[in-house]
Amino acid sequence: MTREELALALLKSCYGYDRFRGQQWDIISHTLDGGDSIVLMPTGGGKSLCYQIPGLMSDEGFAIVISPLLALMNDQIDALQQNGIPALALNSEKSDSENRQTVDLLLQGKVKLLYISPEKLLSVIGRWSSAIIDRICLFAVDEAHCISQWGHDFRPEYTQLGTLKQQYPHIPVMALTATADRITRDDIAKQLNIPEARLFISSFDRPNISLNVVQGSTGKVKFRQIVQFINLHRDESGIIYCLSRKNTEKMAAELSRLGINAKAFHAGMSVKEKQQVQRDFINDDVKVVCATIAFGMGIDKSNVRYVIHSNMPRNIESYYQEIGRAGRDGLAAEALLFYTYGDVVTLQQFARQSGQVQVNMEKLQRMQQFAESGVCRRRILLNYFNERFDHDCHNCDVCNNPPERFDGTRYAQMALSAIMRTGEQATMFTVTDILRGWRKAEIIEKGYDRLKTFGVGRELTVPEWNAYLLQMLQLGLFDVAYDENNHLKLTEYGNEVLYGRQTIQLNRYQRKRFDTAKREAEQPLLPAEPVAAKQMDQVLFERLRDVRKAIATASRIAPYMVFSDKSLQAMATEKPTTKAEFGLIHGVGEVKCQKYWRPFTAAVSEYLAQSDDA
Ligand code: ADP
Ligand code: ZN
Repeated sequence: MTREELALALLKSCYGYDRFRGQQWDIISHTLDGGDSIVLMPTGGGKSLCYQIPGLMSDEGFAIVISPLLALMNDQIDALQQNGIPALALNSEKSDSENRQTVDLLLQGKVKLLYISPEKLLSVIGRWSSAIIDRICLFAVDEAHCISQWGHDFRPEYTQLGTLKQQYPHIPVMALTATADRITRDDIAKQLNIPEARLFISSFDRPNISLNVVQGSTGKVKFRQIVQFINLHRDESGIIYCLSRKNTEKMAAELSRLGINAKAFHAGMSVKEKQQVQRDFINDDVKVVCATIAFGMGIDKSNVRYVIHSNMPRNIESYYQEIGRAGRDGLAAEALLFYTYGDVVTLQQFARQSGQVQVNMEKLQRMQQFAESGVCRRRILLNYFNERFDHDCHNCDVCNNPPERFDGTRYAQMALSAIMRTGEQATMFTVTDILRGWRKAEIIEKGYDRLKTFGVGRELTVPEWNAYLLQMLQLGLFDVAYDENNHLKLTEYGNEVLYGRQTIQLNRYQRKRFDTAKREAEQPLLPAEPVAAKQMDQVLFERLRDVRKAIATASRIAPYMVFSDKSLQAMATEKPTTKAEFGLIHGVGEVKCQKYWRPFTAAVSEYLAQSDDA
């Protein structure tokens, strides 16, 4: 058997999958050759298999998986054990005798994957005998962006990991992250001392997630829209991100009052309360979690069907990571972002108080551009991650409902003239005030009320001017001088438009309506990756979901760990009635086939018999 055949056999028998996805095999084989690597893959892309398979393939050896969060580790270990894979964690939550036992098992070659936090690893590895060290086939550093100050989630305890390569140069290192920007990536290589690491960049596209932005809604209007949206997804799981703890609680309480099964989750809650919410969500006992950003990193639930941002996130990295928690099973999922200019102002305050004002302001601005954009949102996202994506996606609100374009040259000339007449000393806010003719103290003090352009733009509202000025910035008519109090500076192109040598097109500002009936007609919630040409039987799917829930409750594990929604859909399509047929279903490995074929095939047979009777 070749190495690849062996890997594929393990993939089938342990996980029930037929083939590697994307670059998985390249990454694995590079590791088996002893190479270091940096793996950039979006959330849900399939990073875990890249380090799990080398662990499984190693004779009596094991892979070390360094992970920042206990909850995440426990979750992965539970899922692996479900598939019959010997995985253990070493951490401070366990008793000394448990940890000693784990070390014994490592020595005996009975463990394939060891999950450990960075600080724990660094404190124990020096005490390990060479017999254990020799068994280590890989250091996998999960969430590797945590090592970099440039990333969005810096963790000081990660910084010491660079010593691993110095002390154990022969053991390959694999750094994995879903954060892709170049600075962070270079920093990971530097900090981990793996300058020769091969870089594996997967596409960051998650085509099954539909991207939607609603502009301008606040208060009751926004809440009503959220409720409508949730009602479209009645039996499904979703996350709503809110900016503050108070908001999560308010949102959860108001949703509960309407009979929606919702809970709050934030950093101010006790560990016990938080764990309870996570568990209930994972077990499908709570449908909606209203959370601050603290929620989600530690969970690995594959059937989250939507993520709502009730306010704009602070940067595109966070946004992408958070929406990435939807649809990890590859089936259709939705991201819905609510955005107002007020969010930007709040976030600017956060950014100014942060340690890295300039980086954070810049990142915020890119996020804002995404939210206000008139071009395909996926294009913007993927281009942000330096990925070439040169077509419209047809799965975002801009593609599905393209903005109307009009000749905006006159508006541009008003704005450009105002900028010029201030001697390029005005910010975007001031320009809006001048155009709208607002006699506020600052304007009068500077004499801007005597400019020829004062008040020429009264025909447009403030939100309209904000939207159009942003578009003009994006078109390159002027620049923002961040190092000069954000004053606007005309570009060459701007000058040409100002003097009538060029015209420009703008996207008409539209106050979007979030209309349930219309959305339903527009976007049937079909799976993005159809499981098979055959039709899935929705009624059978619901029954199988009940079977899964019963098994999960009885064995105290999460339903998605029994089987993913995708596997259930495959069953509801293929309708297996024998063990052999069941074994062929996507996601059914040997261990799970043995364990679960009876209840599921019985449910299918019973269902088929009933439909024959009818
Ligand atoms: P990440 O860690 O990158 O967020 P995961 O490793 O959790 O992603 O994988 C996401 C989902 O995709 C999981 O449900 C996983 O079982 C599934 N998956 C990964 N690789 C494959 C594959 N080769 N074939 C089918 N499903 C896969
Ligand atoms: Zn699009």
